[in-house]
This record gives sequence, structure tokens and C-alpha cells, in this order.
Amino acid sequence: MAPTKPSNTIDFDSAKLQRLGLGDNPLRGKRQISLADLRRQLSTQLQTSLEADRILALFFREIQALVPLDYLSYQHSGADLRLEFGESANHCAGYRLTHSGEYLGELSFRRRHPFSETELGQLESLIASLLYPLRNALLYRAAIQTALRDALTGTGNRIAMDQAMSREVELARRNLQPLSILMLDLDHFKRINDEFGHSSGDEALRAVAMAIKASLRNVDMVFRFGGEEFLVLLSNTPGSSAIQVGERLRNAVEELPFLIDEKRVPLSISLGCATLIPGESVDDLLHRADMALYAAKRDGRNRLACAS
Ligand code: GH3
Ligand code: MG
Ligand code: MG
Repeated sequence: MAPTKPSNTIDFDSAKLQRLGLGDNPLRGKRQISLADLRRQLSTQLQTSLEADRILALFFREIQALVPLDYLSYQHSGADLRLEFGESANHCAGYRLTHSGEYLGELSFRRRHPFSETELGQLESLIASLLYPLRNALLYRAAIQTALRDALTGTGNRIAMDQAMSREVELARRNLQPLSILMLDLDHFKRINDEFGHSSGDEALRAVAMAIKASLRNVDMVFRFGGEEFLVLLSNTPGSSAIQVGERLRNAVEELPFLIDEKRVPLSISLGCATLIPGESVDDLLHRADMALYAAKRDGRNRLACAS
């Protein structure tokens, strides 16, 4: 096996792994722990968490009793997960993980000196211990993400918003960093529902949410606040930059080529911007952004207003 490119595919259903896991280990006895003992130990340890980062950190640490490593990386783009441990190095052994046809991500090991055939066999065997914990962690992650996402728009929901607001306000306070929020609301949205029907209204909401997410760096900071209202949380961002971001969002929505029955239907949003005042509560910050949004509506819509 040439451990240079992360191209190997490990199918945990194959008899090969069973054989590897139980097979002879030429290094047995020379090191402090045998492959079989390490596998037993891993199968208990890796069940102690449902968090992928914790499971992989444990895996990285424990398998080094048998195969010394400098680096481990794991990624699963579908789960929006990318984890790295240690320091990268030249020699790589990479594996595409699958189980019963289910894709479980890409795992790579790296280190400064080459892997021997024996070590590659051991790594493959040890990966088998990662299978169920990793699959459970991915299921858990998907369940958490579902619980925190708004089903229609894919943005964060109210629960996610409340959690993020509390966390970010606390962090801003502790690190003495600026924090700004944008509260935005679709203009005359009721007309779209009335004129074209509720499902076209839903499409418009989805299109606006996508335009907002595409215009922001951190899409996890967009939340559906209410029916056709969204909240954008901008950490480490002073008011002046938040205004620029808000204008970018306003433009993105205004320029959306939103079509109903092949006819372009113009959309626009109004925005209220507020920057955290030292000592201010989450509720007060939200209230000031809401007041600013109200002012933007009153002053003609399709504009941004700042809280005093
Ligand atoms: P304004 O510019 O003042 O914001 O006017 P508006 O028509 O957007 O505001 P209003 O609050 O009067 O109406 C909001 C509408 O949003 C009413 C409600 O039916 C609609 N709405 C709320 N949630 C949803 C949803 O999930 N899907 C659809 N299609 N419509 C929704
Ligand atoms: Mg509205
Ligand atoms: Mg509204």
C-alpha cells in the first residue's frame, strides 16, 4: 500500500478488517500495548462521548501507544465538519470511511517518517474501532443541527438565536470586543402572499435567506427571528462595519432575480442596526435593533437605520 494520497477506501463491512483486527501483529510484545488490547481499550473509551471532536482527539492520543503520529485530520463536508490535531508532516496515509455504503468522512494520518506496512495494517485495524462512535457522533450532530435550524430557510431558529446571542454578548463583554446585530424584515411581504399565494411567499423567504447567507462570511450567525424577520449576529464588529454589511445585504436582496411564473418580482428588506453598549442586556440590544428597524420602515423601507 502506498501511503501518499488520501485515496484508500475502508469498508468496515469487509472481512478484511476483521482479519486485520484479529490477525497477527509482528510488533506484539515489543511495545507496551498489543493491537488487540488497544482495540478493546478504544472501544470503551470512544463510547464516552457523542462529540466528533472529542472522539477523534481521544483516538489520536490513544492510538499513538502503537503507531506514533504527528497529525490527524478528519473531514466530512456533508456534516460541515473539519477537524485537525497535531502538526502536519510529509508522509500521509489517508482513508475514505464508509460503512454499509454510508459515507463517514475522510481520515488522514501524517508524520515526518514513512509508515511501514505493519503500521498501516494496524492503523486500518484501529480505524475499525472508530466506526460506531463516529457514526453515532454524526447522527447526534445531524440531530442537533436539525433541532437548531429553521426548516424552511436553513438559517438558525429561535433556540439557536437565543443561545448564540447569550454566548456572543458574554464573549464580547469578557474580551472587550464590539458586537453588532442587524434585524431585518422583508418589505410588503404580505402582498407577495396575497398576490401569488403562500408557497410563493415561502419561496421568497428562501431566496432572501440564501442571498443573506451568500453575502456573509459566517452563515451560522443568521437566524430566522420571526415570520419574515431575520437576525444577523456580527461578532467583533463595530457599528461602522455593521452598516457596511447591512448595506451589502440590502443590495443583495434588491438585486435578487426572484421569479414567479417567469416574471421578476422585486424584493427588498429594511434593516435595523444596533451595537452592544457596555453592560447592556441581550433583550435591550434586541429592542434597540427593533426600534431602528421600525424607523427604517417608517422612513420609506428598503433602507437601513441605526439605533441611537
Ligand atoms: P412591512 O413592509 O411593514 O414589513 O409589511 P409586511 O407586509 O411585510 O408586514 P406584515 O407584518 O404586515 O406581514 C408579514 C407577513 O408575513 C404576514 C404573514 O402572513 C407572512 N408570513 C410570516 N411567516 C410566513 C411564512 O413562513 N411563509 C409565508 N409565506 N408567509 C409568512
Ligand atoms: Mg415585513
Ligand atoms: Mg414583520
